[in-house]
Amino acid sequence: MMPFEKCPVCGGVLEMKQVEKLLRGGVNTVSLKVTAEVCQHCGERLYAEDVVKSFEEIRSKLQKQEFTHFRALGQSFTIDEEWPNKSLNPTA
Ligand SMILES: [Zn+2]
Repeated sequence: MMPFEKCPVCGGVLEMKQVEKLLRGGVNTVSLKVTAEVCQHCGERLYAEDVVKSFEEIRSKLQKQEFTHFRALGQSFTIDEEWPNKSLNPTA
């Protein structure tokens, strides 16, 4: 159930879409696809309340290094200190 009929940011028309979401907890990340209402005008994404709760649950699991209901998908990296362009920095 979606709580919004129009975009709360710009008043634009919302469209139900599958979007990719990246969740972080500590240095761990989970990527997934989720149904969201996406504003056709400004691109704002709106999630149902139970989805937001699931996001919080995933972030807290990542933080606590509890990996049940997750499966490994590739590896994630950050850059090292030797990267030549000093405008880019490692995340941790
Ligand atoms: Zn909008």
